[in-house]
Amino acid sequence: MSEIGGNRDELTCIRPKHVNQVPGSPETLDLIRGWAQTCWTEHQPCVYERRRRLSKAKLSNTMPKRLLSVGQTGMSHVTLQDDPPFLHSTTDTRYAALSYCWGDGNFCTMIENINEIRQGISLDLLPNTIRDAIRLTRVLLLPYIWIDALCIIQDDQLDKRYELPKMASIYGAADVVFSASRAHSCREGFLYPRNLSETFQTLYIFPLYDRPNGDAAGKVIVSERALADRDGDEPIDKRGWTLQEQVQALSLLKCGSRQWRWTCYVEKDGLIDGGDLYFNITTRFDSTNFDGRPSPAIFGPNAPSQDPVTLRDLWDHWRRYVTMYSARELSVRNDALPALGTMAENFATRMRGMAGRYWAGLWEYDLPGELLWFKPKASSKNAARVGPSWSWAHSAGPVHFPYIFFLSKSDSKVEILGCTVESNASGWSYGSVTRAVLTLKGHLQPLFWKGEYLCYMGRGGGSDTITLLTFWDFENGRELLDLFLLEIFQEKEAQGIILHRLENGVFERVGYYTSSGCPVDNSSLGKASVSQAGMETAPHEFILV
Ligand SMILES: [Zn+2]
Repeated sequence: MSEIGGNRDELTCIRPKHVNQVPGSPETLDLIRGWAQTCWTEHQPCVYERRRRLSKAKLSNTMPKRLLSVGQTGMSHVTLQDDPPFLHSTTDTRYAALSYCWGDGNFCTMIENINEIRQGISLDLLPNTIRDAIRLTRVLLLPYIWIDALCIIQDDQLDKRYELPKMASIYGAADVVFSASRAHSCREGFLYPRNLSETFQTLYIFPLYDRPNGDAAGKVIVSERALADRDGDEPIDKRGWTLQEQVQALSLLKCGSRQWRWTCYVEKDGLIDGGDLYFNITTRFDSTNFDGRPSPAIFGPNAPSQDPVTLRDLWDHWRRYVTMYSARELSVRNDALPALGTMAENFATRMRGMAGRYWAGLWEYDLPGELLWFKPKASSKNAARVGPSWSWAHSAGPVHFPYIFFLSKSDSKVEILGCTVESNASGWSYGSVTRAVLTLKGHLQPLFWKGEYLCYMGRGGGSDTITLLTFWDFENGRELLDLFLLEIFQEKEAQGIILHRLENGVFERVGYYTSSGCPVDNSSLGKASVSQAGMETAPHEFILV
């Protein structure tokens, strides 16, 4: 390890900071082994929770079907073990799991090569990230590792349908989850040496004078980038699947661009091997925090369950998850729901029935409010749409929600009459959806274009037009005709969604609108609701596809 900060002996006012340039060095691996042993043997809350998760996974039959047996350091092969008997027995099952970015060129278990991998696969054939994870598993003296590409038969749809719903359990019951945070792809690896100038960019070196004779007492090195890793900055933080993998982990070992970091039930802020911990203000407030992990105050076993504040926090948590998740990339758009599926399943459990059914990424009992998702930047291609138009999961790009938590039935201007969902995910309610049709009852107001603004006629008719501030789901929304407004909520301002009529009584969602801050022709009507200002009186029943 080298140091940034100058001469340790002579400087007291500036604390030297360690920079670990060789994450795979024996010294580093010893340090990590020490962290792991402490967590596995001395952290009572971690030991207890690990045991609880493992026995729950065994009882509910959600242990992985296969594990990779890593053998010992120096061995040239690893073997795939199908359904090892200990997976279901009461004896301890110890394994690591890997969370990483795939990228191109991953080595996958397929129907045609699975027998060879059962016999043993040479490490030379495996991509670097997987090879590094196997090396680390051996260092920690764990016998097995679970890696999706190798432990799920990638061209066997039946196997995928059986294994994907177990992801929460697989990552949750692992002794440790390795996050190959710094690796952009499976080919890159994460134990190779860090390059100082790549990692910290330009380093500025200043002499430090604090002596009367003018001699330099040492030097101060200032780096262009922070010494600490920040959550959200790493390649792995940009990928869709990895969010729930890391949230599920009980003990998470992150190999970041700048630091190693171990977090678990006891080490909440984490042990790190260099620099300082990046201080994230949101982690300070336990009951309302959101740092990508469920807050123990809300999700923990002793969390208060039904009081309104907790419920509001829970809905807030969910929407923040969706917002954070939607900013991540998925190579396969259809994965949007399954890659969040275990989070949704956990949320449903935590809500104890108060979330209702899960329809294409939205919760039944919060549906009016969740229909108000919007995209600050419209997607470029309508063609990217997968599944129902009213679900945020249908198109690529980040989504946000307005600051409204849980609309009660009396606050909502629409009535949800029902939903039919078609999926091909073997009955898993949290998997991918091919089609979902929502039946609603609400006020539909015809819209028209006035220059570049979308308007509707006010109560007075004629020149009383009301202009909307719109957020389109995709860029070509502006080319559409036959548009309607569906008001969902109205307090200080009106909010709702913009619908495009496909045929009589059948609509698709194309955008979100708010009357807040919009350019209005008549200020008194600008904030009026449709029912007050509009020409329609009776609500319509219609379907949204
Ligand atoms: Zn621990």
